[in-house]
Parts: sequence; structure tokens; C-alpha cells
Amino acid sequence: MSITDSSVEVVLRRRARRSKCPCGYTTAASYDQAPRRWRHLDFGRHKVWLVYSIHRIECPTCGVRTEDVPWARPRARHTRDFEDTVLWLVTRTDRTSVSTLMRCAWRTVTSIVTRAVDALIDSRRLDRLYRIGVDEICYRHPHKYLTIVGDHDTGKVVYIAEGRGRESFSEFFEQQSARERGAVQVVSMDGSPAFRAAAEHHVPRARQCMDPFHVMQWVNRALDRVFSDAASVRRTLTMQAPQWRKARTALRLGKNRLTKTHKSLLRTVINADTEVGTAWRLKEQFRDLYRKVAPSNAVRYLRRWIEEARSCGIIAFVQLARMIEKKAEAICAAIELGISNALIEGINSKIRLINARGYGHHSAESLKAMIYLNLGGIEVKLPTQT
Ligand SMILES: [Zn+2]
Repeated sequence: MSITDSSVEVVLRRRARRSKCPCGYTTAASYDQAPRRWRHLDFGRHKVWLVYSIHRIECPTCGVRTEDVPWARPRARHTRDFEDTVLWLVTRTDRTSVSTLMRCAWRTVTSIVTRAVDALIDSRRLDRLYRIGVDEICYRHPHKYLTIVGDHDTGKVVYIAEGRGRESFSEFFEQQSARERGAVQVVSMDGSPAFRAAAEHHVPRARQCMDPFHVMQWVNRALDRVFSDAASVRRTLTMQAPQWRKARTALRLGKNRLTKTHKSLLRTVINADTEVGTAWRLKEQFRDLYRKVAPSNAVRYLRRWIEEARSCGIIAFVQLARMIEKKAEAICAAIELGISNALIEGINSKIRLINARGYGHHSAESLKAMIYLNLGGIEVKLPTQT
């Protein structure tokens, strides 16, 4: 062991006579050997390095390979404990904190995450998928997209492809065997014709439906428009920016989730502008379609809602009614099939969080790894947790 002001080097010597290939094969023969260092968890202010003369062996199956060591993953330059700590941290805190605390470059964090995801993700995750949802996210403006496929039954992300076209979604189906494709019964999505075409081609017998998350987004956007027109066009409302943002949040929130402050703000807005009042009521009635209406009654309820929205005299809602009418069948199919907005909403909010923590916006590759790590069902434990 050698200690300097800033580092500790621990030299390891082998006891075992045989070297192990990552595949499990062991041999006493050595092809060659060379010293290697692994960064380990810090000891106070000191960076700790494990130093070991690593052997290469000739495996009958794998060829010439570096031997397996118990303290690190194959090809890693950091110990397993160091890597696991990094993985645990990146799912909980921002990028700058991780690289400051661990004293390593951001590049290093990315490569640890990417390699761990390759090693830890469930390779049978495309098996046993019955009800899937697909969505696109823009990860860098203006035109960089990822297509994300999730499992409604587990809430996990099972596949991520670059782009958002028909090919991107097809790529997922092409990874599945014919038997696995045959098991898919439901595909939920936004209104994208590209996704629809891919699903029609690869799983023609699966039922397609509209994701409640996206439909509610349409409704809320129409409501937003009516609200902002109250200030800029009809001039019935004057509000300071912070108040304005609070009111918009209150309008968007479900009636059952409003606080006292929200409620009084909402009353003020609705009293000042009757169109906002009507729009808000229509939004709440639409929400009830997913929350309160019995599936057997959904078609009738939706038809009545469309009629009412069409005749309410508010342009944003007349247009919305038209959009919803076109998709009415797929909207009701989601209700009948019990598709909630939980999966896609979960994916969207988690990805917003990943971006906010500074892990987004870089390469598609590193963002994909972060999404899998956070949403792909990978269990990350600190070295001290058992
Ligand atoms: Zn081998």
C-alpha cells in the first residue's frame, strides 16, 4: 500500500492458481499479464486505487479474454462499489452533484451508466407483453426525437428507438419474435399516423387505442387557449405573471385536487370571464369520462360531450370537438380496455426530471441509458445495502 497526499494505492496479489473467464471457464494457464488500476471509493480526501496484475487467458469459447476479477465488472476501470454508488446517485440527484461528489468526469458517469444498463437490463423484457403504449419525446429542439415503448401492465419502459417515424416503432416489433408479437393485444398511442401504420403492419390483430394522457393534453391545450384569449383578445382578465401561472395550474388541475387557494383563484377567473368558466366545465366533464363513467356508458357519454362542446360557441372547443369526434372510437376503446394514463404520464414526468437534473440534451445514446436505468426496471443498490 502506498499513500500520498491525495491518493492511496492498494496493491493486490493473486492467491488463486486459476484464472476465470467471464463465461465461467477457468484455467491455470496465462496468455499474458499487465498491471491495471481500478478506481475505488474514496478514503476521506484520498482517492483509492486498486492495483493488480491482470491476466489474459485463452478461453476455448471466447478466445483471448481478460480474466474476471471479483471487485469489478468486465472491462470496467472502476470497482463495482464505485459504479453502484454512481448508479444509485444518478437516479436520485443532479448531474453536477454526482460528478462533484464522486470526483469523476461527466464522461465517466455516462460510460458507467451505459455499460451497467447493457449488463443489467432484463433481456427477456420483450417477452410477455400484452398491452403496450408508445410515445415520442423531443429530447433536443428542434428535431431530435426518441420513440419510447412501455408496458401498461408493469409500467416499465421496454424499448427505446431513435426518431419518431414508422421505422422507429417498427424497430421495436422487429426485435420481437413472431410468438411475442402474437401476444400483443393492445397498443395505445397518440394520434400519430406513423405509429398507427407500424402497429397495423406488425400486429394487425392488436386493438389500437388513444392514450388518455394525450387526449387530456388536447383538452388542456384548448382550455389554455381560452384562458390566454381572455387576457389578450377579450381583455376580461388582467393578472401579474406569477398569479397568471398559478391560475393556469388551477385550471388544469383536476377539481378533486384543488387547494383552497386554487379554488378562490379559479372563482375569480371564472367570474371575470364566462368563456373560461364554460371551457373549464367542459374539461372537467371530459375528465369524468376517464374517472367516473362506466365503460358501457362511455360511447353515449362522449357523444353527448361532443354535441355540447360543438355548440358552446368557443372556437377552441368547437375545433377540439371535431378532433375528438374523429378519434372517438379509439378514445372509447382505451376506456373499454382499461388503459389508464399512468404509463405515459409516468414516462413523461420522469423524462422531464431526467432533463431537469442535467442528464438530457446530450447524445441519444446516453439519454436512452438514463431512461432505461430509471424506468426499465433495473434495481440499483448501494454497496452497503443488502
Ligand atoms: Zn470464455
